[in-house]
Amino acid sequence: MNVQTGPFVCLVCCKSFKRPRHLEGPACSDCGEPTVGLNEKFQAPPRKDVAGWQVVAFLIEHGFRYHSIWERTETGSYQLVPKAYPRTMAEAREFVVRYHAHRVVDGPL
Ligand SMILES: [Zn+2]
Repeated sequence: MNVQTGPFVCLVCCKSFKRPRHLEGPACSDCGEPTVGLNEKFQAPPRKDVAGWQVVAFLIEHGFRYHSIWERTETGSYQLVPKAYPRTMAEAREFVVRYHAHRVVDGPL
């Protein structure tokens, strides 16, 4: 049987793990803290990129899970916002305000 896996992150260790998607917050294999499941499109910053991980934590705290965000353009067609997920805290603060309505609640992706 194929089990679909996806990224889970430990915000204590600043690490990303692949785990079966159906799990909810499986414990980090390093520190034992609960991890957070993210969309498969998530790309983890390097472990030493403290600022990058602060952005990840900030977005998670605000209800984002790196899911794709679509919005209607002025012409009325739907378009995927390219590189929608911010890399800096300044961008992240704008992002959570602008895309407030696109937050996801906790749960399976
Ligand atoms: Zn950990």
